[in-house]
Amino acid sequence: MQKIIAANWKMYKTRVEAAQTARELAEALADGTPHDRLVLVFPPFTDITAVAEAFTGKKNLAVGGQNFYPAEQGAFTGEISADMLRDTGATWVLAGHSERRHVFGESDELVARKTAFALTQDFKVMLCVGEMLHEREAGQLRDVLARQLATALEPLPEALRGTLPGRLALAYEPVWAIGTGKVAGPVEVQEAHAVLRALLTDLIGATAAELPILYGGSVKPDNASALVGLDNVDGLLVGGASLEAQSFLQIIGS
Ligand code: PEP
Repeated sequence: MQKIIAANWKMYKTRVEAAQTARELAEALADGTPHDRLVLVFPPFTDITAVAEAFTGKKNLAVGGQNFYPAEQGAFTGEISADMLRDTGATWVLAGHSERRHVFGESDELVARKTAFALTQDFKVMLCVGEMLHEREAGQLRDVLARQLATALEPLPEALRGTLPGRLALAYEPVWAIGTGKVAGPVEVQEAHAVLRALLTDLIGATAAELPILYGGSVKPDNASALVGLDNVDGLLVGGASLEAQSFLQIIGS
């Protein structure tokens, strides 16, 4: 399976800064990505066009939106639609990022609506799941992942479920490891990814083996290669360490 290395730029970078970083990435990866990896960047909305322009014609580089509202259009002040995102050059969207869930109060149900809507609008979706520290300490890892995954995937129409390979990726992001400098250990990551693979198989059958499961949470150049080499780890979702082109390039090449 092609590994995916994704950058979440969160609420960082003006348009000029984003264009500069995107150009550095595109130039460094002009001859293809190391190991033929797919590189995704999720910039703030106002930067997507600039990043898409820098990536034009580059194989294995794509751009996505960090968020959108699951309706075609309407009175949703402050929100952005899938059509508007498409206009900017985005082909991927994030759904269920822990900052959306825990800072902005997005429920499992809203994440499910976003996942279904984006797929029907022909976007590729990176669905983020992960437990909070108190949930892990209470032994609830499997229950939390099962609830988040089932709520997002069970309502998908049968016809859509059959088309998920190539259109859906999961990102396992333990909330306690995001932006904290605490990276999950190899045993913890492998355990969670194995749980996710089994849950996915229960939900969608044999094609579950074809869906990439990324790890995210304090990935840095010095821990990336150990993480990406673990069983069932099909890529990395990187926040802080993706903001600098050189650091993200090291992770892409790890
Ligand atoms: C993220 O934003 O998805 C993330 C994993 O952030 P960080 O790498 O900074 O922990």
